[in-house]
Amino acid sequence: MRLSRYFLPLLKETPASAEIASHRFMLRAGMVKQHSAGIYSWLPLGYKVMRKIEQIVREEQNRAGAVEMLMPTIQPAELWRESDRYDDYGKEMLRITDRSGRELLYGPTNEEMLTDVFRTFVRSYKELPQLLYHIQWKFRDEVRPRFGVMRGREFLMKDAYSFDIDMDAAVVSYNKMFIAYLNTFARMGLKAVPMRADTGPIGGDLSHEFLILADTGESEVFCHADLVDMPAPGLDVDFETDLQSLVDERTSLYARTDEMHDKAAFEAEVPEDKRLTARGIEVGHIFCFGDKYSKSMGAKVMGPDGREHFAQMGSYGVGVSRLVGGIIEASHDEAGIIWPKSVAPFGAGILNLRVGDEACDKVCEDIYSKLGTAGIDPLYDDKPDRGGVKFSRMDLIGLPYQIIVGPRGLKDGIVEVKDRKTGERQNLSPDAAVKFITAQFADMSI
Ligand code: ATP
Ligand code: MG
Repeated sequence: MRLSRYFLPLLKETPASAEIASHRFMLRAGMVKQHSAGIYSWLPLGYKVMRKIEQIVREEQNRAGAVEMLMPTIQPAELWRESDRYDDYGKEMLRITDRSGRELLYGPTNEEMLTDVFRTFVRSYKELPQLLYHIQWKFRDEVRPRFGVMRGREFLMKDAYSFDIDMDAAVVSYNKMFIAYLNTFARMGLKAVPMRADTGPIGGDLSHEFLILADTGESEVFCHADLVDMPAPGLDVDFETDLQSLVDERTSLYARTDEMHDKAAFEAEVPEDKRLTARGIEVGHIFCFGDKYSKSMGAKVMGPDGREHFAQMGSYGVGVSRLVGGIIEASHDEAGIIWPKSVAPFGAGILNLRVGDEACDKVCEDIYSKLGTAGIDPLYDDKPDRGGVKFSRMDLIGLPYQIIVGPRGLKDGIVEVKDRKTGERQNLSPDAAVKFITAQFADMSI
């Protein structure tokens, strides 16, 4: 992409309303535009990052054996009356009436709707387990939308739902999502810690929240420090094998948010030098709630014993749009965002310090075309601005690598390559620069 043709409306001033780094940088870097509290347009740069995050979530859901589908954003109120949640959900639910007086709502989650799909089509235990997901917009009329996309009213969520014949099988599905989540967040360069969670209005007993540690997080967390450094299970996990020991390894150490915190247990279970108290951002939440919805909505299947059983269910959410902000909270400096390679909107920026100079233009075009061919998706700053403007703009939008091309270097046949994260700079020939950057993207393992 050539910057001269891109839509990147950067802000010079930091809007006063933005309280945290991610919100400030997302506005300044032209990633989103707010229209109403908690309702945003995703501008090209922000949208590109969100799509990358979404794709990682999708790949890890698929790897775990979940199957993608799509449910609507608008749901009929009757479904929620069946589960008894229509009134319980309260003011967070945006209720809508259509022209013929039918009550509808903008879905805040989809347990009822997928239970309805399931009960329509699935009759026998032989068709189980089922693990289905979609990535769809949700609306929750939050009391306090804030921190930009972190707590929006309209937001993008991946939500998966599992259906099993009994509780043992339901735990197998739960474990698949638990492991898939750790890999998902690790691929985005995040250290997400699973914490024992309250099951809240969704109900049930087995539940974990996944939190990334950040000073600006809304939850207070208490955990064993070793959990933070525990490596992700890895992309080679076989989801058809028993995952219980992998899950146990990560749930046996104390980790809870303020809602579930028990000071006495924390002090008894965790040695003093390992007690970590911090703040965290919830990026995922998984629940196993058994027959809460299948019972109220009559989702039954025939079991091997010839009798009908209510499906045992779980649901599993990832905050896709929240992650855009969450990743920035975890990875930035004073100058701007530092995107992990896996979610960066462009792989590298090419800075032409003298647009119009024959040698500079030629080398930049050549690098641009070669990086494009190598699949790096470069952003070429071909605008006629001063060097200083280009440097701070590129630092702000946070692409992992910058190739700086100026007439002085080119006299000696070199360009400068800057690593946005470490700040390291090296002088290389244009071809070596292309090779170096391409090599950095070759290994994306976690
Ligand atoms: P929270 O405790 O932050 O309000 P929740 O428990 O209501 O979240 P879930 O119903 O578990 O959220 O939703 C699954 C995921 O969706 C959450 O882990 C979070 O990442 C994301 N999410 C929830 N509410 C919002 C919101 N208002 N804006 C952006 N993302 C959200
Ligand atoms: Mg939650």
